[in-house]
Amino acid sequence: MVHFVGAGPGAPDLITVRGARLLEKADVIIYAGSLVNPELLRYAKPDCKIYNSAYMTLEEVIAVVREAEQKGLTTVRLHTGDPAIYGAIKEQMDELDECDIAYDVCPGVSSLFGAAAALKCEYTLPDVSQSVIITRAEGRTPVPDKEKLGLLAKHQSTMILFLSSGLAEKVKNELIEGGYSEDCPVAVVYKATWPDEKIVHTTVGELPKVMSDNGINKTALIIVGYVLKSEYEKSKLYDKTFSTEFRKAVVEEN
Ligand code: SAH
Repeated sequence: MVHFVGAGPGAPDLITVRGARLLEKADVIIYAGSLVNPELLRYAKPDCKIYNSAYMTLEEVIAVVREAEQKGLTTVRLHTGDPAIYGAIKEQMDELDECDIAYDVCPGVSSLFGAAAALKCEYTLPDVSQSVIITRAEGRTPVPDKEKLGLLAKHQSTMILFLSSGLAEKVKNELIEGGYSEDCPVAVVYKATWPDEKIVHTTVGELPKVMSDNGINKTALIIVGYVLKSEYEKSKLYDKTFSTEFRKAVVEEN
């Protein structure tokens, strides 16, 4: 059996309880060494075999899993954040399907939520933005034409850019082309929830300069949108004049 497990954004106590239990039981752990905090490997049994997938190809990962399966062992494939976001798990699951190997997925806290916590911000504010676009700038991995940053930017909703820290100039140009103003707020969160976490507040126009001044070119999220400013309408959910399934509205007397 193979368990794909989300390791969380960095801080080792941000793995789920289920994820930690799976690590404790694993005979084999293959972890994404470029971003998974190695402190999580402390959960491993003393005789657990540990592999760092940063040095492995897909074929090598699958070969390790197959060998473990033949011996009746349990494998944890440990991915950073949540495996469903830029985790490249689909190709692994497809290979496992072909070999008839059973697997399941344990979710994790994505860095996009680690970053929101670091910023103490809410991505969805009434009257400002009620949608979050999770995307990336086009680098070596192509992005479909209909999802180019300039097109997505037209929505002016909260945008979270993964894998784009080395492409700040391109990000700035495409966001402006899509209609964001130069002074739209942007936050860059480097290594959210790690001890060396760094937060930089800036604007769309200043983004490339600020990223290079701070030496941030990897392991960061670029968060764009007016939710980073403070003006908004309060939520209806806790409004005393608004009835919900659990609470009757208070009728205001004039
Ligand atoms: N599955 C992961 C994302 C993997 S893609 C998740 O859910 O978070 C790798 C990219 O994620 C990095 O280039 C960076 O943009 C982002 N990332 C991962 N961990 C991060 C962290 N702790 N802080 C900021 N960005 C992070």
